[in-house]
Amino acid sequence: MNEAADRSADRSAPLAPEPAPDPVRDPVCDPWLAPMRAALAEAERAPDTGDVPVGAVVLGPDGSVIGRGRNEREATGDPTGHAEVLAIREAARAVGEWRLSGCTLVVTLEPCTMCAGAIVLSRLDRVVYGAADEKAGAAGSLWDVVRDRRLNHRPEVISGVLDEECAGLLTRFFRGDDRGGDRGTDFGRRHPVR
Ligand SMILES: [Zn+2]
Repeated sequence: MNEAADRSADRSAPLAPEPAPDPVRDPVCDPWLAPMRAALAEAERAPDTGDVPVGAVVLGPDGSVIGRGRNEREATGDPTGHAEVLAIREAARAVGEWRLSGCTLVVTLEPCTMCAGAIVLSRLDRVVYGAADEKAGAAGSLWDVVRDRRLNHRPEVISGVLDEECAGLLTRFFRGDDRGGDRGTDFGRRHPVR
């Protein structure tokens, strides 16, 4: 029986598909989708220089972008040239001081120990990240530097925002580059920490 005949046999069956239900809304992650897309746009520019595609933006208290960065370690030969550090530096220049109270860092990959330290020291209110980094992440995966109770400043952490897109960018980069070895499988989903 073809599909049309099947429909006529059941008069209660709708001829047109039902409108898709609204996608499940996530009140924790959804507000950060647009900033994460801005961070992804930064990340996509990184491989032009052979750098691992990680991008970051810093949002001011009003939500406007006050700092941007992408990995530039290869481009500049600077071992501290991670996306987060560069975005934090630009934001501090914009604000005019080192304290970034009220600001949020949005980054495509879970921060490493260096960047987690920079996040704490810059007094950011919040860090939002996309893909987890199971082998080097310092915001919940391998370490949790940003929420260490021994520190007197502990930013809020929101993880897993557009994690599939963020991880996919890294996986494609490493699979196309022999230097990556098996790193292409290290990035993935993580249940948001709330
Ligand atoms: Zn880092």
